[in-house]
Amino acid sequence: MRVLLAQPRGFCAGVVRAIDIVERALKKYGPPIYVRHEIVHNRHVVEDLRKRGAVFVDELSEVPEGAITVFSAHGVARKVQDDAIALGLPVIDATCPLVAKVHAEGRRYASQDREIVLIGHAGHAEVEGTIGQIPAKVHLVQTAEDVATLDVADENKLAYVTQTTLSVDDTRGIIQALQTRFPTIQGPDVRDICYATQNRQQAVRDLAQQVEVILVVGSRNSSNSNRLKELGEELGCTSYLIDDEFGLKPEWFEGVQTVGVTAGASAPEVLVQGVLDGLRRFGDVDVGLLAGVPEDVRFRLPPEVADVA
Ligand code: SF4
Repeated sequence: MRVLLAQPRGFCAGVVRAIDIVERALKKYGPPIYVRHEIVHNRHVVEDLRKRGAVFVDELSEVPEGAITVFSAHGVARKVQDDAIALGLPVIDATCPLVAKVHAEGRRYASQDREIVLIGHAGHAEVEGTIGQIPAKVHLVQTAEDVATLDVADENKLAYVTQTTLSVDDTRGIIQALQTRFPTIQGPDVRDICYATQNRQQAVRDLAQQVEVILVVGSRNSSNSNRLKELGEELGCTSYLIDDEFGLKPEWFEGVQTVGVTAGASAPEVLVQGVLDGLRRFGDVDVGLLAGVPEDVRFRLPPEVADVA
């Protein structure tokens, strides 16, 4: 079987930074370190950090007095920041700078007295954080159809922002629907969709031209991993989202000559290599690498842990 590895795939700079922050905090302050929500949406990453002394909580009320608290890469609402201050918790913020950029954009539009349309998925941690960072009415829109039922105060005082991990193509469709109904709406086009999401989706488009089946390594609650699987399917390749090699099923590969493998932005490379090992158990595997966009994005660490070697 021929296996083609997507390029780029796996960890993005925001995920690398978030994991680095927890690891450095563990080193500097010692366990336990409290992390509000999963630091990134990957089961293996969360389990590994848990074993090393990270405690994942849903609410700040679960954090003991004075304990070091990390906010996840997805960002938090203003109220959570305020509550942490009120509780006197020492916070290290691992919000991805690209998510923080969307927050700032939303606040800028709000300062112009605009209502905001947020294109994103209901219930996702990033969406909840973004809504809670914008001091204005925020309308959540998930599909182009939702645009028709939007009820806004002033059609000429609108702006939109987007979640960072959406499908580039679907989001374009939603933006078009917004611009058709509200011709004066302001917004960044699809630029809020982060570089890592865009590059990984482009790699799947390239992969889909050359393979029959696509495997996406990533967890079920990972937005960008789900989009990669959906995109693979839209492009005509049977696609599966798997956490690791134990998710592989031999029947997926009966009569299949070419398989593409990629990974969501929160999935470590070691899991991709594990999947290749898993495929080798089904027969001979010849692995090739897709040409792709090189990534060299790195984000600065917060001052609290920047000094840890
Ligand atoms: S997927 Fe994009 S926005 Fe999310 S953590 Fe990675 S770089 Fe940041």
